[in-house]
Amino acid sequence: MSVDCIFCKIVSGAIPSKKIYEDDDVIVFDDIKPSAKVHFLIVPKLHVESLMSCEGAHQALLGKLLLLAPKLAAEQGLKGFKTLINTGREGGQEVFHLHLHVLGG
Ligand code: 5GP
Ligand code: ZN
Repeated sequence: MSVDCIFCKIVSGAIPSKKIYEDDDVIVFDDIKPSAKVHFLIVPKLHVESLMSCEGAHQALLGKLLLLAPKLAAEQGLKGFKTLINTGREGGQEVFHLHLHVLGG
């Protein structure tokens, strides 16, 4: 948990979100500024800044994020989708808590 992190605050419930899935490791909610008809974010509950901060210990978690994408996309009625992980300020990342965008429709 990082005190100034928006997504940590969503994980703790301090900031509301339109949650579509949650388990012990992950929370998934709609993007507040959707770029497609369906646009949700798959977010690990663990505060990891970005893909550049990931190491071997995060391998299972990263796999889990990816495997959730097609499952939740199908539940949202998508037959196909795009995934995106912005990494680093120069990679367009704005929230420095790792997240996978899923967009479709
Ligand atoms: P990034 O550029 O870091 O990959 O994307 C951050 C995403 O988080 C943006 O698409 C932005 O709309 C979304 N976002 C930022 N703040 C909030 C928030 O408070 N709630 C939700 N649901 N999404 C947010
Ligand atoms: Zn965080």
